[in-house]
This record gives sequence, C-alpha cells and structure tokens, in this order.
Amino acid sequence: MIQIKNYINGELKLAKDGTHIDNYDPSRGVVYSQIPDSKKEDVEEAVAAAESAFPIWSNMPKEKRSEIMINVANKIQERLDEFAAAESLDNGKPVSLATHVDIPRAVSNLKFFATAILHYASESHYMEGMGVNYTLRRPIGIVGCISPWNLPLYLFTWKVAPALAAGNCVIAKPSEVTPMTAYMLSEICIEAGMPKGVFNILHGLGQHVGDAITRHPKIKAISFTGGTNTGETIAKIAAPMFKKLSLELGGKNPNIIFADCDFDKALKTTMLSSFANQGQICLCGSRIYIERPIYEKFKEAFVAKTAKAVVSYPTDEKAKLGAVVSKPHMEKVLGCIALAKEEGGTILTGGERVILEGEYAEGYYIRPTIIEGLGPNCRTNQEEIFGPVVTIAPFDTEEEALELANSTQYGLASTVHTNDLSRAHRVAENLHAGIVWVNSWLVRDLRTPFGGVKNSGVGREGGFEALHFFTEPKNVFIKS
Ligand code: NAD
Repeated sequence: MIQIKNYINGELKLAKDGTHIDNYDPSRGVVYSQIPDSKKEDVEEAVAAAESAFPIWSNMPKEKRSEIMINVANKIQERLDEFAAAESLDNGKPVSLATHVDIPRAVSNLKFFATAILHYASESHYMEGMGVNYTLRRPIGIVGCISPWNLPLYLFTWKVAPALAAGNCVIAKPSEVTPMTAYMLSEICIEAGMPKGVFNILHGLGQHVGDAITRHPKIKAISFTGGTNTGETIAKIAAPMFKKLSLELGGKNPNIIFADCDFDKALKTTMLSSFANQGQICLCGSRIYIERPIYEKFKEAFVAKTAKAVVSYPTDEKAKLGAVVSKPHMEKVLGCIALAKEEGGTILTGGERVILEGEYAEGYYIRPTIIEGLGPNCRTNQEEIFGPVVTIAPFDTEEEALELANSTQYGLASTVHTNDLSRAHRVAENLHAGIVWVNSWLVRDLRTPFGGVKNSGVGREGGFEALHFFTEPKNVFIKS
C-alpha cells in the first residue's frame, strides 16, 4: 500500500495525529494508497514554516525563483510517462489523455509563470506638472491554494505556479480524491532545490484541512477551484476575514450549433466537448442547442458516434472514455440520469453503468449519454452533472438560442459553431460566460483571462490576471 505524505517545511511527513484516508483506483474500484487526514495542527506547522521562508523567497531575485520553478517543470517532463500513469490510475482517465493533456499542461503552467514573472512590469501614471504615481506590486505573504479532482496536477499547478512565481509562500491542498501527482510533485520539489517552507502540500478532507486553511488568519488569500457550494462555504468564512478570494466554480455550459456551421467539424468538436475526461471538465458543454434545419441530421450523427465511443480501462489504447473518478460520483451521475428520465427525458444513447470484465469489473464506468426532450427549466438542464451526460434540443432563432444558453445560474464557458462572422461576434458578446469558443473548444492560451461569471466564480486566473491576484498593489506618488 502506497503511503502518501504531506510536504511541510521541505520534508515528507504523515498527519500529526497519525490518521489517514483510503485512496481508490477508480478503474478497479479498489483502495491502492492512503493519504494523511491532515488537520488544523498540520496547517499550523505548515504556516510556521511558510512564515520563516517568506523573507527568503520574496526577496530572492525573481530570476532565481524562476530557475527553481523551471527545474521543477523539467523534472516532471523527464518523468512524464510515470506522472501520466499515476494521474490516470488515480483519476480513471485514459492514460493517453494524461500523457497528452494533463501532464504536459502542468509542465507548461510552471514554465509559463516562471517566465511570466520575468516580464511582469508595474504601471506608472504621470500627472502633468505634478508628479508621478507608480505601482509597487509585492507578494501577499502566505496564500492558500485548494484544487479539485478532475484535472489534478493541471489545475493544482495552474494555481501554485503564479502564487510561487509572484514570491508568495504557499499552503496547497489537492483533492483528497486524486492526491498522487501532487505527492510526486512534492518529491520533485525536494530534488529541484525548492527552499524549505516555501511550498507546502497538505493532504486530506475539505472539511478538515481545507477548512483549516480557509480559516487560518495568517493565510491572506485563497485561490479555490471546485464546486459552487464549496466556493460559497469558503467565501462565508474568508470574506469577513477580508482575505483575497479567487473562486473558479461549477458550470452548465451551452454549445450553440447554427445550421451554417461546418457540420463535420462541429460534430467532432461536440464529441470532445461533451465526453473528454468522461465529461468531467468544468469547460465541457452539457447543453447542446442545435438550429432546427440541421437538428435531426446532427442528432443522428452525434448519437451514432457516441454509441460507438469505446468505454474501457484507462490503459486500453482504444479507450475514448475511462472510469469516472469515484463510486459516489458514479452514483451521483447515474442518479442524474434517472432524474432526467423522471423529468420526461428520452435517453437516445447510453444511460447506464458499464461493467467491464476481469479485474476492472468493480470499476466506475458510465456509457456516454445523450438525452432529448427536456425543457430549459428542469433540474437536468439547470444543475451541474459533471459526467458523460449531455442534453440536446432544437432552436429556431438566434435570440432563442441566447435565451436558452443564458438560462442557468452558471456562466463559465460556451461554444458557438457558425460560419457567419457577424453572428459569431454578436452571439459571443451576448453570452453570459467568461469564456467563448467559436468553432473550437478548449483552445487555451495561458495569457488569457480564465474564469466565469454569475455562480461560476469570482475573479480570473491566467496570465497577468493571476500575478495581479497573487500580489498586493501599492500606489506611490512622488511630487515633481
Ligand atoms: P469540491 O468543491 O468538492 O472540492 C474541491 C476542493 O475543495 C477539494 O480539494 C476539496 O477537498 C476542497 N474542499 C471541500 N470542502 C471544503 C471546505 N469546506 N473548505 C475548504 N476546502 C474544501 O469539488 P470537486 O468535486 O473536487 O470538483 C468538481 C467541481 O469543481 C465541479 O463543480 C467543477 O465544475 C468544478 N471545477 C471548476 C473549474 C473552474 O475552473 N471553474 C475547474 C475544475 C473543476
């Protein structure tokens, strides 16, 4: 049994009270490792270490900080296959996805912010005849980063990289459901010369260690990615303490497919945006609106392709979908499918658990599912499912498409398929979403602002937005 450890003050250690939690391999449904069930006292130890390290790290020339971070990134790159295998085992995703997306992206996140900090200039505002204002941007101090299970190392590094690059010391908590690659990252940080106490990784439950991080008075900012309800819980605690908060939350993203689109490309992209990572990407489209003239044709082709998508164990090269992340999550998704039926939906394909053979028989597999016949206000079209489940519906006008797309509490991402340029601009402008992809999906330029509106979050990650978040601006005026 692998024993995952916390990374505190440059050392790997168990929870102070010796308790642990089981960690499952979702492809087989068995426990394969254990993680510390960390508590308040572990957070205290990490904060004390971070406090001692802060003057060293924040005053270190940024070139040196950058070098250490690039060293970390290169060491992940050298062990890419090992990291991809670990991510896949921990999360259930196909190894090919972890190899081509998750781990390379984690490497890019670290390199991107390690170099971005070298180009991060502060602003100045000259006042004619009076003087000049300039903005000092200093690191905040000790910051907390809390991340989810769907893209484990990818989203973990997306937070910790800008936090560290900006000169903060970090107390980070990966999801208890997928802790393995964060643990491997801590081993790499030790090898790569990360100074003690600068970066601390604590494992365990949200209500234990996550809550202790959120409440700690010396942790001055919280960057959180996860569900909207958890974001609300964190905000209720952190806001009255006047902590800086960045919240990347849930979504119920619409895909709008106009009749004038490139049909084959729209179909291919919709397959990906619906079912990549078993539909467990916050940016996946889960409500697909198709203009009526192509509705039946698109539906037929989409259902046929989906029915053929291979659901298999993560190391199977043929697998398009692997396992969903956990038994409770599988049960939740299957419950959502049952609810869709109760609400009057028709399952066009999928709708059930897949039982594989042999050692994978207890794994958590769900057939990709398309549901038709539901109105915009039912729970299936309002609540996040976060699995391989989408609804489809026709629309007649651009106005109707926008109304449907904007009809939920969420506003993270959306996708528009059209060859009419003016329409693309118009629809993009009127969608209530932080991100719009036209004739594409999941194309990511790390410089762009990333985040959602409405209940999908507060603040933006990415590029200089993230460096702004992890620094405190101070205006200085000098009279001429
Ligand atoms: P979650 O909210 O259950 O957990 C996220 C993290 O928060 C975990 O590390 C968890 O341990 C921790 N946590 C839980 N309760 C806590 C508490 N009371 N205090 C502090 N920390 C706590 O989310 P999840 O199930 O891991 O991830 C799925 C959700 O994440 C989905 O809603 C998805 O849309 C969202 N998500 C959003 C984005 C985005 O960028 N907007 C990206 C990925 C995932």
